[in-house]
Amino acid sequence: MKLKLLSCCFLSFILSCQSLNDNISSEISPASTAAFTGSPAIPSTQEESAESFSIPPATAIPGARVILEKKQVPILCYHQIRDWKETDSKISRTYIVPPAAFAAQMRMLADSGYHTITPDQLYAYLITGTPLPKKPIMLSFDDTDLDQYTVGYPEMKKYGFKGVFFIMTVSLGRPHYMSREQVRILSDEGNTIGSHTWDHHNVKKYAGNDWITQLDKPTRQLEQITGKSIRYFAYPFGLWNAAAFPELKKRGFVAAFQLNEKPDQTDPLYCIRRIIVPGTWSGTTLHQWILRDF
Ligand SMILES: [Zn+2]
Repeated sequence: MKLKLLSCCFLSFILSCQSLNDNISSEISPASTAAFTGSPAIPSTQEESAESFSIPPATAIPGARVILEKKQVPILCYHQIRDWKETDSKISRTYIVPPAAFAAQMRMLADSGYHTITPDQLYAYLITGTPLPKKPIMLSFDDTDLDQYTVGYPEMKKYGFKGVFFIMTVSLGRPHYMSREQVRILSDEGNTIGSHTWDHHNVKKYAGNDWITQLDKPTRQLEQITGKSIRYFAYPFGLWNAAAFPELKKRGFVAAFQLNEKPDQTDPLYCIRRIIVPGTWSGTTLHQWILRDF
């Protein structure tokens, strides 16, 4: 099991780097963002938007075009938040964010007037047009890494920021990963807990009982830990296909997050775009990327 988990993480790393390269190349190829234009979000308070949220019935979900034409909310994706080791490759240094860089990035967001929003707020905005706070942004964290809780979250709390933590349940309680109790605390304190499968296998390859192992059981476990419904999903490695959408819907997921591919044009709620923030980015660089890429 340990070997399996390590190999998953390694593959995750490689593929995430691929996504990161895709992300960087999108700077010179605006095609991936060309479909996303629209009116800016209407200023409001975070509290108002959160309180007004309720899941609309399926009949209330607008057509794909309506959702695709809304201005995108920047969504950042983080993994490990730790200092680089000598053994970390050049590529991994774009993927592992040192605590000082993370602190600088959070400080920039606060100083620039960004407000973190929850997936519920994003969903309500996309579905019903519920106003978002001024300069909305979403912070997302994949893979259950312990330093997200011990290093990242305290930094976020300085500014009242909330995030969404996508948990792969196989790693709960293992060394260097979060415990069940830590996940519960994150949830209790107003962060969102989402699913990132049981053990990080590629969704595009699921068949038969894989859906039970990778979606049903982990979701039940996360619901037991948090006492809340689990409504959001992040694809391992950011890899998705349309065949996964009905499986996610059947299980009550109302939206799913990928990395930096162009969203599906018929069901954009199930492939919402995020960017991985490299550890090499200063606050200023991150700010430039947010402005030009969303
Ligand atoms: Zn992952």
